[in-house]
Amino acid sequence: MALISSRVSQLVQTKDDHLFLQEMDEVINQLDLTISRLVVPRLLVAEPELKAFIDQELFRLEYWWFDRFVGNQTLYFRLKKVRRRPLQHDEKRLLNKLFSCFDFVHDVDSPEEFSQIMNLSRTLEALENQFERNIEEAEGSLNFSADELDGLPQEFLKKLPKNGKRYEIRSDIWWQYATVMRRARSARTRKLVETSRQSLAQTSNSILVDTISQLRFRLAKALGYSSWADHQLGTLILPTENKLQQFLSLLLQENKSHFKKEKVLLSAEKARQNKTKTAALKSYDVSYYMDQYIRNEIGLDQERLHAYLPYPHVLRVIFDQIKTTFGVEFKKASPPISWGSHLQFFELRDVKSGKKLGGLFIDPYPRRNKDSWFFSYTIANRKDYLDGSSQLPLNVIALNLTPPGPGKPSLLDLEEVRTIAHELGHSLHALTSTVGFSLLAGYNSGEDLVETPSTFMESWLNEASFVKKLGKHYKTGNSFSDRTVQKILQANHFGEAHQLQDRLINSLLDLKLHGSEVIPSADQLERQLRSKYGYKIQLGASPVSSFSYLVGGYSSLYWIYILGSVLGNEFQSSFEGSVFDARSGLRYRNQILSQGGRFQTPELLKNYFGQRIDICKRALEQLR
Ligand SMILES: [Zn+2]
Repeated sequence: MALISSRVSQLVQTKDDHLFLQEMDEVINQLDLTISRLVVPRLLVAEPELKAFIDQELFRLEYWWFDRFVGNQTLYFRLKKVRRRPLQHDEKRLLNKLFSCFDFVHDVDSPEEFSQIMNLSRTLEALENQFERNIEEAEGSLNFSADELDGLPQEFLKKLPKNGKRYEIRSDIWWQYATVMRRARSARTRKLVETSRQSLAQTSNSILVDTISQLRFRLAKALGYSSWADHQLGTLILPTENKLQQFLSLLLQENKSHFKKEKVLLSAEKARQNKTKTAALKSYDVSYYMDQYIRNEIGLDQERLHAYLPYPHVLRVIFDQIKTTFGVEFKKASPPISWGSHLQFFELRDVKSGKKLGGLFIDPYPRRNKDSWFFSYTIANRKDYLDGSSQLPLNVIALNLTPPGPGKPSLLDLEEVRTIAHELGHSLHALTSTVGFSLLAGYNSGEDLVETPSTFMESWLNEASFVKKLGKHYKTGNSFSDRTVQKILQANHFGEAHQLQDRLINSLLDLKLHGSEVIPSADQLERQLRSKYGYKIQLGASPVSSFSYLVGGYSSLYWIYILGSVLGNEFQSSFEGSVFDARSGLRYRNQILSQGGRFQTPELLKNYFGQRIDICKRALEQLR
């Protein structure tokens, strides 16, 4: 830290503007590397005591960031001076990014105003961290008898800890939660598990959500915006609260009939099984009857697919396709550092030139002390130094796949395959970067583009030829029959309206929490929105306080998942012949993936498509 601090003091004295910007980027790069050295072990291996220690270190870094870096007025006024000088394209973009780090894009001229804003930002950051930690530390432990868990596969039950004759289910662990919601026959069991997950951090977080959204509003006002949403959206493809509101309303309207159609099919399935004439669908019924519908009506037993989806084979197929389509190849290599017993490491190379582009860790299976979520994280961004040397990007994908059993490889379900494709999309975004400034590299693109490369990769699972290649029985080596492939494609599309509806509700909630209108408490608001557009939530549940994306991660940006799938479809149709076409793939890689934050998303898309994209219109047309 001392080293970085002394660099900052020297930095202010750097006379040359270009050098100054380069140095700023280097300091942030150094800081990012320091953070990675703490965050990666914290997320993947640290014991609770070590986690607490790391948290203290991270807290110190955060304090440094606010106090010595973005809080450094001399540095800030120096930046403002640079803004008036002629700069190259990438330098201008870097400068904008720097201003967004400093959070003072607009008119902060008096020192009093400056320190007021500093204090608000600092308080906010601390509360946001608290919010996420409350979710992370919450455990939703429930005990059930074997009868109450009827319908769940034996394989699944075998993995659960037992208290006497009762099984322990943890609603905070995703694979346990998802399996119960999809397979448990007892509605009461599903209801208990869902309510438990949706109220994991309720006691501590319900009030925090409101405090955080009020503080964000105050900060946005102090910065000269009418709401936090306007502050966040400014440079994005939907640049204002109103525009986003309009987008979401139009989509809600358009999706209404599709959502209803699926709902009718699911209710009918429920009525049939309960031998009643009609049946009202509850929130905790959706996943279960979705699975039942696919099994009984589409005729696809998803349980039987596992044997055809061994992880090593699936990964190879996706890597091969990436090589053919994007001209980059993942090759197994010895890892620069190592942790966990199943850790994998790959180097990414450009196929044509053989040039090394970066490195990728994959940490595939759950482990004690490992975060139970699925994510991609950039350990190091690409960065070009003044002396001509480069730092190559390094990325890690953390997964919690079904672990291998005795004499059996890890056998996946389609959801897991989809997740691998999704996370690899993020990794490719980080690793194929050609931008020289670390602050503009990889997924330091426009925030609205972040979920597009990942969602685009998911679309491969809707292609018959690709699904056929994915299947290889771990014993017989047989692939899926053509009939099975067709059923898989059909099953992929079933439930799309529900998925979109859920994303729309979350996006709307996220927007209203950060909008300019006065709202009731977040809990109440969520209750209203879910009753109106989706399914009523259970008494005592508060999803918003137990879901870190809305308040922690993507404050007023949750909609980028919807954007990701709209743009994903646009890219898909821009490919010539097939979504795997190599020439189109290379163009996509060069003009989108590798560009990082060199352009704002609207401009980036215009360069690629040759015209401005009306995202509202495109989204509606795709739904029709
Ligand atoms: Zn993602």
